[in-house]
Amino acid sequence: MHGREFSDNDMSAFKGRRRPGYSALLDAVRAGECDVVVSTEMSRLTRHPRELEDLVDLIEATGVYVSALRAGHIDLSTSGGRVTARILGAMARMESEQMGERIRSKLAANAKTGKPSGGPRPFGYQRVDGRLVVDTTEAKLIEGWAQAILAGSSVSSIVAELNASGIPTVRGGRWTGPTVNQILSSPRMIGMTSSGGEPVAPADWPAILDRRKWEQVKGVLNSRRRGPTPRKTLLAGLVECGLCGARMTGAGRGPNRSRQYVCQKQRAGCGRMTATAGAVDDYVNGVVLGAAELANLSIVRAERHVKDSARLIAEVAEDEQLLNDLAADLGARRIGRAEWISARGPLEERLRENRAALAAVGAGDRLPPDLVQLDDAKWAALSFDQQRAVIALFIDRVTIDPVGNKAGSKFRPERVRASWLA
Ligand SMILES: [Zn+2]
Repeated sequence: MHGREFSDNDMSAFKGRRRPGYSALLDAVRAGECDVVVSTEMSRLTRHPRELEDLVDLIEATGVYVSALRAGHIDLSTSGGRVTARILGAMARMESEQMGERIRSKLAANAKTGKPSGGPRPFGYQRVDGRLVVDTTEAKLIEGWAQAILAGSSVSSIVAELNASGIPTVRGGRWTGPTVNQILSSPRMIGMTSSGGEPVAPADWPAILDRRKWEQVKGVLNSRRRGPTPRKTLLAGLVECGLCGARMTGAGRGPNRSRQYVCQKQRAGCGRMTATAGAVDDYVNGVVLGAAELANLSIVRAERHVKDSARLIAEVAEDEQLLNDLAADLGARRIGRAEWISARGPLEERLRENRAALAAVGAGDRLPPDLVQLDDAKWAALSFDQQRAVIALFIDRVTIDPVGNKAGSKFRPERVRASWLA
């Protein structure tokens, strides 16, 4: 047995350049000069999905045996092996591209400032002996922005104010929406290092915003980016079918009176339940108003916020920890890429949901300013969003039960069960 080495040293992996060593290797395989190909890593052998697919074709045609030392043996003649190789290839490609982006943006920043390293200081901080310390004037501004966003102000109104005031950016230029967005969304604000915009570990600089406020601001900014989803039916999202438990959706044209809550088959429901929306809404409004008249809504709200945000913050912190642990497991090779990918998906999904929920706590609610002794007249004067916000303080969901054995739309109060928030 004899070996022959093919190499493409110092070839940038993903610029689509030809790799003479790799081409020579393929020629040798095609010519039947070798029957085993050994590489240190799959990503060093095939650096582009196209190359991998060419290799797979070649293996099928020639029966050559391919092994990557660090990934263990990957049998490219089986479908399982090919899937593994494709995933590894895609991951390596992504990492290399991200590395490229990081390097490019760093070079761009350095080029602009003319500095050998680092780039400009972040807004809100000054560099003192190479460390970041809080610039109290700018930190106050940032806190003010956060407060304004949570109170419903737009980023563009903040930008307009900044530009009118003559306060410069750290680069000395004019303010833009993305600049303000980026400052507020940065994990730097809570004294954390970041990766891909997500907080990673406690940093050696102080926080400007507290964790809760920062999460809320981020959530509000994100939800605005997606755009508002207008709800036309007062209890949309709260009503569930008593037969199958599915969410019922508002359906029907025209004003609320002619609309119905429907359990829809195309939304995984049983399709057998409808209820007149106006009647259900009136009934639930009445029940909620009864509770609201007795309660001081500001106290109810304060209690709800404390409970919800404490739970959500704990969950967010826990999921972040789990993600970090997973990354560490991957780094230490206790788990493989495929396991890492499948484990982090659900975690990231839950993180997104909890962040959005946290943003909705307090910031998202549109409670009326006058929270004492809400009566019929005050209720009627509330906007649609305000009414929803009051209902959401009390009601977790509303279940519609069938009438006897018939699930028709005829309204009877006993068909409606409101489940109250604890
Ligand atoms: Zn149903």
